[in-house]
Amino acid sequence: MAKIKEELKVEVAESAKLLIEKGLSPGRDFGDTSLRDKESGLIYILPRPSIHQPICDWNQVGPDDVSVINIHGENVGDPKVLPTVEAPMHLRIYQERTDVYSIVHSHGEWSSVFAGARQSIPAVTLDALETIGVEEIKCAEYARIATKELGDNVVKALGTKSKAALMANHGAVCVGISLDEAFLVAHLLEKVSMQVIFGHLIGKPITITWEDFGDAPTYEDMVPQEQ
Ligand SMILES: [Zn+2]
Repeated sequence: MAKIKEELKVEVAESAKLLIEKGLSPGRDFGDTSLRDKESGLIYILPRPSIHQPICDWNQVGPDDVSVINIHGENVGDPKVLPTVEAPMHLRIYQERTDVYSIVHSHGEWSSVFAGARQSIPAVTLDALETIGVEEIKCAEYARIATKELGDNVVKALGTKSKAALMANHGAVCVGISLDEAFLVAHLLEKVSMQVIFGHLIGKPITITWEDFGDAPTYEDMVPQEQ
């Protein structure tokens, strides 16, 4: 049996507060986070409130409230601590994307405009293109919460490269190699969502493509060289 690491439970518990601080959980208990331990493969994930765990605000989450499951969804930690209802979606992402070690499922204000309209978001700035990794952040087909179908749809929208996808009429999913990166992606997703909405007010937002972006500049490109 793999060792359960207290420090990873602390990290996930702290990330619950970040969801609220960063405006990604307007109901204070919307959305959820998880991380995958690079050594054991175990997944540390926010809980599903229950009679044993009456949590109604993510600010109340402590390390003992964090659920630990394996890649098949079996609870390997405290049996009374159940994983979030969106655990099937988190699992589908970890199963398909071996490059992903953290997930932030948000209900952000600006990205929710696109989720509500079931519209994808074009990357209109360099930082969105570079950080999220695609020219278009896709909106997954609608599926009910807590279903494997929702996970399947999100996996399809993420594809092999994207670090973000929208969930139709629901919210967004951002991924990364760490919770820091997944939160950075979530921040950029809100920023690009706002940029596209305001872009429509002043004209037509223009997608920046990888062709526009070109190759990353080298040191020699940036620093004048002595002749
Ligand atoms: Zn949600």
